[in-house]
Amino acid sequence: MSEPSIFTRIVAREIPAEILFENERIIAIRDINPQAPVHLLVIPKQEYPTVVELAAADPALLAEVVAVGQQLATEHANGEFRLVFNSGASTGQTVFHVHAHVLSGGGEFPALKEGSLA
Ligand code: 5GP
Repeated sequence: MSEPSIFTRIVAREIPAEILFENERIIAIRDINPQAPVHLLVIPKQEYPTVVELAAADPALLAEVVAVGQQLATEHANGEFRLVFNSGASTGQTVFHVHAHVLSGGGEFPALKEGSLA
């Protein structure tokens, strides 16, 4: 068995995190190193390495990740958001347990800039 990912350890409360949402299948936390005024992570509890495996194995769970992203963007910003899945080390993926970056601004925060990805 491989070691549990850092996100599985957060689900198990072995590592602290600011948990913003949790149900049976998903947890959402604030990113420890924010790249946008609002930078949250929506994480399926089941460990798939990337969004590609998640989409193939459980498309309903991927749809739920998107819906949780929308809910969090509404609660924490103005409801608009970028959804980023880094898929592969050369794109910046460092944690190989699928997670959606929810990047947002607006509301009380500055808006994201056009033409940049973070
Ligand atoms: P990736 O680079 O794999 O797409 O994204 C991993 C993200 O997880 C990064 O944005 C990084 O800041 C975040 N991250 C890594 N370790 C932790 C942690 O222990 N707690 C939280 N809240 N975020 C983390």
